[in-house]
Order: sequence, then structure tokens, then C-alpha cells
Amino acid sequence: MLERVGLADMRAWSRAERARGRRIGFVPTMGCLHEGHLRLVDRARELADRVVVSIFVNPLQFGPQEDLARYPRDLARDRTLASDRGVDCLFVPEAGAMYPEPPVARVVPGAPADMLEGAARPGHFAGVLTVVAKLFHLVEPDVAVFGRKDFQQAMLVKRLVQDLDFPLTIDVMPTIRELDGLALSSRNTYLSTDERRGPALALSRALRAMEQAWRGGDADPAAVKRAGMDALAAPGVMSEYCALIGEDLQPVTRATAHTVALVAARVGTTRLIDNVVLGEGIGADPRVA
Ligand code: AMP
Repeated sequence: MLERVGLADMRAWSRAERARGRRIGFVPTMGCLHEGHLRLVDRARELADRVVVSIFVNPLQFGPQEDLARYPRDLARDRTLASDRGVDCLFVPEAGAMYPEPPVARVVPGAPADMLEGAARPGHFAGVLTVVAKLFHLVEPDVAVFGRKDFQQAMLVKRLVQDLDFPLTIDVMPTIRELDGLALSSRNTYLSTDERRGPALALSRALRAMEQAWRGGDADPAAVKRAGMDALAAPGVMSEYCALIGEDLQPVTRATAHTVALVAARVGTTRLIDNVVLGEGIGADPRVA
């Protein structure tokens, strides 16, 4: 597996590969890789001839009170996991190279970026879309693979590509979970053993409760959300939101099989998010032991 640090070196490698007729698949990450990331790699491998994974903890998408400094980093382990999974090129740019000075020009998303995660984390999606745009310019992929775990992010990236005419397609993969339903996340490493075994499971339980309320015939979003909030009201869990939105990121007036139920909550100092497509249910999501 190759590793690229310099921005120009990354672009030169991608262009050389494309000049040989190879399609480039791209998986942007913040590292601390887990099976969820690696399934995106597998998907990129299906869709392209060369797979690039980036590891970059993007300071622009963290608020001043957030966990940028303590975000888990383990490049040595990430290298082994990526290499074992057949990644062709690991792109690990330095923050000083990505942002030699605070950027004046940024990608500023519209209203759908101001709700849910955007409301909880002001400026977050401007930071995400700005770095994604930069990474797309540096890697020049034919296809980029994102996880539905970050549903609002994935849909906003789709709009970025559509609205600004980036010449690539976006593929979105289902959420990979532990056997007990917890969605894999680099931030799960913050959880204590007790938090992991108990309160952290309230999120997937809330999604199941919303799914069951809907399957039981409740199409009224308020009632479905209430079922989710009731399940989130558990010891050790500070609920933030339960929401029902469509692929267009608009709140729905009636819950359908395509509606996405989302939850966010704090467990101790760890902020967790999760979601499910009501008609699929979290039972359909792939598990790892
Ligand atoms: P991150 O490193 O958290 O920025 O995530 C990088 C990519 O991996 C994003 O597209 C995430 O949505 C995706 N991802 C994170 N966790 C999971 C998961 N449990 N299942 C599938 N994709 C995931």
C-alpha cells in the first residue's frame, strides 16, 4: 500500500492512475478505522480499480468546545487495517498543508445543514463540506463512498456534488453494527465498559421503538418520535433529538417506509448519533461480532 502525505503528490498519483484508464474509488475518514470504514473500502473496491482512503481529522468541522484534541488517533493501526483490506493508497495530509492559513473561501450549505446535527454543532457541515470539496479536488475520484451512519452528512455531500457539478458519483452504504445493535463509531472508544453495556444501547433501542410504532400503524411523526424519546429516557442518557426526515432532509408530515428516523444523545461525555430507514429496520443492518 502506498502512502501519500503531500497534496500535489496525491493528485499526481490519482492522475497517473486515471491516465492508465483506472477508476478511482475514494473513502474519506477521520481514521481510528473500524469495520464500518472497511466495508466502505470493500464497496469502493467493487466500484473502482484503485481505492484511496484518506485519514484527516478536520479541525474545521469541530466546534470550540468539541473533542478535536482528544479525537482518537492511531495511524500505525490504521495503516495495517487499510493495507490488509487492500487499500491502494492511504492519503494522510497534514493540517498545516490543508489549511496553511484559515480559509477565506468555504462551502456554505443551506437550510438542511442548520437542523439536527447542524443545530447541535453550528458550522459543522460548512467544515465537512469544505474539507470534502478539497479532498475531492485532491483525489479526483470517480466514485466516493460514505456511510449512512452519518445520514445528514451523506445527503449533504450528495447535494454538494449535484449543486457544484463535481464529476463523481456518491455511493451510500448501510450502517455496520455490533451484535447488540450499537452502531460502530470511532467515538465508541470514549465509552466506559458500563456506558458501553448499558446507556449506549438506548440509541438503537429508540430506533427500534420508532420502527415498531410505525409498523404498528402510527404514521403521525409526533407519535413515532414520542416512542423514540420514551426509549431514550434511560438512566445515564441525555437525549438530544429524535427526528423523522426524508432523503431530501425535510421533516415529513407522514412516516413512510422511506422515512429516516434519527437519534442523538449523550452518554456521559460521549455524543452518539444513529439512524434507520423505517421500512428497512435496524435488524436489516449488517452486524459484526
Ligand atoms: P468518520 O471517520 O467518522 O468521519 O467516518 C468516515 C466514513 O465512515 C463516513 O462516511 C461515515 O459515515 C462512515 N461510517 C462511520 N461509521 C460507520 C458505520 N458504523 N457503518 C458504516 N459507515 C460508517
